[in-house]
Amino acid sequence: MFFLKKEKESEKTFHHELKKTRESFFSKIKNLFLRKSKIETNVIDHMEDLLLSADIGTTTTIKILNNLEKRIQKEKYKTTQDLYDHLKKEIENLFIDIQNECLEKKIKYHKKPYVIMMVGVNGVGKTTTIGKLAFFLRKKGFDLIIGASDTFRAAAIDQLEIWANKAQVPLIKQHMHADPASVAYDTLQSAKSRKKDVVLIDTAGRLQNRIGLMEELSKISRVMKKIIPESPHEIMLVLDASTGQNAFEQVKKFTDFVKISSIVLTKIEGTAKGGVVIGIMDQFKIPIQYIGTGEKIQDLKEFDGKKFIDCFFEEKNNER
Ligand code: GDP
Ligand code: GDP
Ligand code: MG
Repeated sequence: MFFLKKEKESEKTFHHELKKTRESFFSKIKNLFLRKSKIETNVIDHMEDLLLSADIGTTTTIKILNNLEKRIQKEKYKTTQDLYDHLKKEIENLFIDIQNECLEKKIKYHKKPYVIMMVGVNGVGKTTTIGKLAFFLRKKGFDLIIGASDTFRAAAIDQLEIWANKAQVPLIKQHMHADPASVAYDTLQSAKSRKKDVVLIDTAGRLQNRIGLMEELSKISRVMKKIIPESPHEIMLVLDASTGQNAFEQVKKFTDFVKISSIVLTKIEGTAKGGVVIGIMDQFKIPIQYIGTGEKIQDLKEFDGKKFIDCFFEEKNNER
């Protein structure tokens, strides 16, 4: 019963979670398009301001507007509604190439265990996301194990242990300041002998010591390969949506050092900066796999670009 109810909840669209982003984007877009019957000549300039204010980013905004102008020359438009539809199509086009393979499929089609390393700067939500993801995947029938490779603070291990207990997934840990690579080694060894489907490895995120952090991450990877040569199968970068443009910088820094397979965007429910999704997908071509929509264990949703954009644009006819 409990699972059924939760399952239903997670099937809802992003409507509620994107409320803030949608409202800020839409109050502006309404002013630009829908309250006017005539199209003003400087509408593209206004559109530029609007896209930038939704945190889509300069490069992607320019690209959208250039493509939009080309489309307008070819297809023309009569009403503000036509222009609005053209804009939506241009944004949708950015997502077409980056179709994401569902994580469950990847897990099923790989040899066990499938190893996922969670990376990101401090406070973005790595540990919380591990708890949520463990719960999510366990509900889908996978057998998991978690490794506490953020050994920098004692509290980090305790926090992860609380999440592991909530998700009812075993945790491999050592003491504070233990070698993170050694914890990962123990975790993979245990996963292999206990025939687990999935391993989730938490890591520290002290970016102020960037070189140190990146060395730590590559050492963890190197040591894991001694047990499972293809591991980590997936490196998930966790980003906090509310940091807006700062999230772009974080993707750049991490991609310089490690191969990021997918992104989890957290705290999307509390921010009007959800447009950052569009810029990140466009500029880095890295799929967004999940979004974090709150602090509870079930607050993780699979990301669907089409639904996301629909949600951005859909309210136009319902609002007065
Ligand atoms: P870490 O340092 O990357 O491991 O980050 P934590 O997992 O410790 O999370 C930092 C803070 O962000 C905690 O207070 C979490 O409850 C909060 N948090 C994580 N994900 C979300 C989310 O999707 N929404 C909200 N509102 N808060 C989140
Ligand atoms: P080092 O700290 O520079 O020596 O890094 P290593 O690459 O040797 O490995 C780091 C940690 O991973 C070690 O302290 C061990 O805990 C663990 N480890 C790595 N390789 C092995 C191994 O072959 N056997 C065992 N038991 N542990 C290993
Ligand atoms: Mg943490």
